[in-house]
Amino acid sequence: MLYDVIIVGGGIIGLTTAYYLYKNGFKVSILERGRLGCEASRNNAGFIVPSMYSPLPLEASIANLIKWILSRKSPVWVSAKELFNNWRWFMHFLTAKSNIDPAACRTIRKLCRDSLNEYTKLIDTYGIDCDLRKGCILEVYSDKGDFEEAKLFVGRLWSEGFNVKVLSNEEIYEIEPELNRILVGGLLYEEDLLVDSAKFINGLSKVIKSLGIDICEHTEVTKILARNDIVSVYTGIATRLDARYVVISAGPWSIQLLKNLGLNLLMRPARGYTITLSKSSKRLNNAIFIHDIHEVVLSRSDGAVKVSSILEFMGFNKDISVSKATWMVNSAAKYIPYIKELSIEDIWVGLRPCTADGIPVIGKIPGYDNIILATGHCRFGLTFSILTAKLITDILKGKAKSNILKIFSPMRMISS
Ligand SMILES: Cc1cc2nc3c(=O)[nH]c(=O)nc-3n(C[C@H](O)[C@H](O)[C@H](O)COP(=O)(O)OP(=O)(O)OC[C@H]3O[C@@H](n4cnc5c(N)ncnc54)[C@H](O)[C@@H]3O)c2cc1C
Repeated sequence: MLYDVIIVGGGIIGLTTAYYLYKNGFKVSILERGRLGCEASRNNAGFIVPSMYSPLPLEASIANLIKWILSRKSPVWVSAKELFNNWRWFMHFLTAKSNIDPAACRTIRKLCRDSLNEYTKLIDTYGIDCDLRKGCILEVYSDKGDFEEAKLFVGRLWSEGFNVKVLSNEEIYEIEPELNRILVGGLLYEEDLLVDSAKFINGLSKVIKSLGIDICEHTEVTKILARNDIVSVYTGIATRLDARYVVISAGPWSIQLLKNLGLNLLMRPARGYTITLSKSSKRLNNAIFIHDIHEVVLSRSDGAVKVSSILEFMGFNKDISVSKATWMVNSAAKYIPYIKELSIEDIWVGLRPCTADGIPVIGKIPGYDNIILATGHCRFGLTFSILTAKLITDILKGKAKSNILKIFSPMRMISS
């Protein structure tokens, strides 16, 4: 059997890509090491937020990096070992800021915004039960200086056509009476979407299966070999599958697959937590993004409270730290006091794939005309998933625009 496309990795990027390719007439197979959506795509915060996109290196500086190394109890932590072993990535990360093109960021936000309706359409078409909500992401500030700076960014978003509402602290307390009276203001992202990510990935997996796309779960790809017009994909159980194209969407593990092809990808995993707290009779009406501590707190439809976020650069380590999770909940409780009374029911860790310049890598890899890379979405994999799937479909149909290909070009982040 010769497939048109084999997709390596069945996270949100692999699944949406499979869906769009299938809809465009390609014969597709997904090979997934575990179960579909078993990694970062499973339990993230569920934000689909084009208006919040800004590349991570814009927050980087030597002073911040030192702060991030020294304090484990902070929204970002870098382990000294990770820094030492991957100094090239950190050097690039620290210097990327000056090379980030604001026009490219505007284009990415616009492409993402253009894809928002497609999420709603996909969810409606297949009746995916994922608690989809619009305009309910509220970012809150307790520091006047940070809030003033945020308002400048909002001015730029307005000029790009985004609907973001600036709220006073009184207006916030009116819609969110459970918040502590320590805020100076906030931003309500009126167009952005929120889903329950676990329900969304489960629903999407069911859709993919129902369409008859070939899916091999518990199948790890160990080697990819390109020969003339055919790419062969070898799996851990010594089986070979052939296709005209291969898409590598294996999240942070794409680094290893590229290494097997003799290529170095400037990407590192950044882990994050999602903590489920017990059910409460009190509710938050919006998903609260607490700017000071970069944490998301929201009430799930079943009454449980979800606390999410944190960036930890410590390699592929997924060991759970209960003290870190407790610190996250206690930090959030300063803003939302009632959650302090709730107990921790579950702690989950996911690894985000982060490129050194904060922009995903989507496109053909150097030296291979039939291997396409689709990763590096870092904090925005769910947000960028439809954009990515559509771009890959355009690439394979020979319709992708050169200015868009340039923005996401893997060449930026790959060396041999
Ligand atoms: C705490 C947290 C909160 C987040 N919140 C948000 C949010 O609100 N909004 C947002 O847009 N993004 C968010 N993100 C980021 C988002 O979750 C990721 O960017 C996204 O899940 C990446 O998707 P992916 O498909 O590239 O990778 P993954 O989900 O990691 O999927 C890759 C898949 O490839 C498989 N794989 C790996 N190697 C192989 C191999 N050799 N063979 C076969 N299969 C393989 C893995 O098993 C995995 O299933 C968050 C992340 C975290 C950790």
